[in-house]
Amino acid sequence: MPIADMHMHLSRGRSAEFYREQMARNGVRWGGAVGGGPRDDVVAMREALGPHYVAALGQTEFFATFFEGGAAALSDVERPRFKALFETAEREFQTGRVKGFGEIHINNMSPFSPAGTQRKIALESPVVLRMFEIADRHRGFVQIHTMRDSGMDEIKRVAARFARTKIILSHCLPGARPEDVAELLSRTKNVFCELSAKGPVHGPRFFYSGDGIRPEWRKVIVAHADRFMLGTDPCCGLEDRYDEMIAEIRTMLLPDLPPAVMRKVAYENAVRILGLPK
Ligand SMILES: [Zn+2]
Repeated sequence: MPIADMHMHLSRGRSAEFYREQMARNGVRWGGAVGGGPRDDVVAMREALGPHYVAALGQTEFFATFFEGGAAALSDVERPRFKALFETAEREFQTGRVKGFGEIHINNMSPFSPAGTQRKIALESPVVLRMFEIADRHRGFVQIHTMRDSGMDEIKRVAARFARTKIILSHCLPGARPEDVAELLSRTKNVFCELSAKGPVHGPRFFYSGDGIRPEWRKVIVAHADRFMLGTDPCCGLEDRYDEMIAEIRTMLLPDLPPAVMRKVAYENAVRILGLPK
């Protein structure tokens, strides 16, 4: 079963060859949809790996700006770093090489987020809205890391306002109960979940384990089978445990889904939602 990993970070300036091998040995046919660290270049990676690598802009700029100026700076569209980002985005979306922004951390006020990176800003803030405007014009995506305690109204409003944009919720909205996600998916058409950081490698946030998927979550995935995608999230100290993340997806998560749902979650949804080549 090929896998589309829609939360595959770049890190430490590693080479295209590293990711080509990482994907090949794990049967990951499509990967990306989030950014990397300051030494990583998603556009160059897209050039090297081709269209099975899903380039996403903005994560590096968002982090660098936060470290420079705190959460308030994340709303300042006039900062040169953001102006340059929007210019790059316009150009790269135009060529079709880039389809989205991500991972954009809106609210990561969780003990699982690395110390010193936590912030909570409004989804409807000027810089983020500019990303949505650009993505919407090009029918692209924005992958956001936010949490249930920000409320779900802002997600619903942004989904309605930017109806051509695919909104991917990193880690399927940390803190959300299955019924919250079910309600959000029922009330929107362009909101999707990716399921990274939900297995044993990431620690105590079990969503699936050796016992399979938690039944209450399994129900939501089966009921909204067109809206879920896979992700790994090899970051923050787990960069070298990618193969284990894929192994747990293949042994604990996928086999617990009915075959047609399994295929959708494994790769068919990502291919359809993000317009990826077969
Ligand atoms: Zn991530």
